[in-house]
Amino acid sequence: MSAHVLVINSGSSSIKYRLIDPVSGAIAARGLIERIGETGGRIAHVNGGAETVRETEIADHRAGMALAYEMFTEVGPDLSAAEVAAVGHRIVHGGRRFHAPTVLTDEVIAEIERLSVLAPLHNPPNLVGVAAAREKFPDVPHVAVFDTGFFHDLPEAAATYAIDAELAERHGVRRYGFHGTSHDYVSARAAEVLGRDRAEANVIVLHLGNGASASAVRGGRAVETSMGMTPLEGLVMGTRGGDIDPGVLMHLERSAGMDVAALDDLLNHRSGLQGMTGGNDFRTLTERAEAGDEAARHAYQVYVHRLRKYIGAYTAVLGRLDALVFTAGVGENAAGLRADVVAGLEVFGLAIDPERNGSAERGERYISPAGATPAVLVIPTDEELAIARDAWALL
Ligand code: ADP
Repeated sequence: MSAHVLVINSGSSSIKYRLIDPVSGAIAARGLIERIGETGGRIAHVNGGAETVRETEIADHRAGMALAYEMFTEVGPDLSAAEVAAVGHRIVHGGRRFHAPTVLTDEVIAEIERLSVLAPLHNPPNLVGVAAAREKFPDVPHVAVFDTGFFHDLPEAAATYAIDAELAERHGVRRYGFHGTSHDYVSARAAEVLGRDRAEANVIVLHLGNGASASAVRGGRAVETSMGMTPLEGLVMGTRGGDIDPGVLMHLERSAGMDVAALDDLLNHRSGLQGMTGGNDFRTLTERAEAGDEAARHAYQVYVHRLRKYIGAYTAVLGRLDALVFTAGVGENAAGLRADVVAGLEVFGLAIDPERNGSAERGERYISPAGATPAVLVIPTDEELAIARDAWALL
């Protein structure tokens, strides 16, 4: 076997991992460990086409990593033969300190820990995964790839919140952006598909997964993105509502007696599709809407409206648009949503070819009519591959 990179995405109660050949992009194995520290722990490990599932209590992330290691030993591929050259870690918040992929030394880890104040829900579980993986793989470099990295040089006009400048500076209040690995990868692939030099391509990327964000990328540089200081801003998402008047929060504090913890829970877990319909899954939402469910229809319209508003704004920011790109679970699969988002945007030259859009074809593709500008594309995202390649390139 040739050298591989093990990519780890460690969340609060789950760890996703993937063993990737960074040169060919081939996936040697992947797995998902869920419900860590809860009841009903579970690991699903896929080696080649075969999935092995084991249900067992998983006390913490260290036990989770040990379980994954066991799977590699029992089901394969054998990790000693796979030549793990590096472990790549998704780290959500790099603050202003980190943007390029960085080898995780004790000092770097301490810095990332300090940045947890900016991302209390994400950086701590990322670091728990790092610690567990370093214990299991002490002899290879561990590399942090930051979700904020691609947006580190957002123009100041886009990155600044118009509040008391000194307060903002002191507390790190500015727009950082997230999903950067995906926006970087997908916008680069879009230029490739357009047959243009990346420096010559202006694109809008709509990353629509459970979390969702938009970006405007001019010549390979991100000039706008919808997520801000935290992943709460911007588009309507599975459990987050995106843009909201901050006055709503003060109103709810005064009128509904909600404190910071309650507001945090509302904005992170009880908003978006979940808040409006009781379910966060987009496919279920569309099925319910088609069956005539009023709440689902309404939420769908809110979701579409927000996207159209962002496309208009980002087209204005870019000045010239070469491609609108859909990616992630919803963007790659929901043809009807893509059609509804683009319908009526002829003012920008945007149009969908119904046959291309509805085709069962997967992979990178045009869904606009032949020769139309801007193009409308579907580009499957691959954050794990991008992380593997970033880690590999650093070494
Ligand atoms: P995550 O942000 O968790 O990585 P994904 O990018 O996998 O999420 O996207 C998950 C979302 O994609 C879910 O809301 C799911 O319903 C939606 N989705 C997946 N397949 C389809 C489909 N065929 N049609 C509509 N939505 C889909």
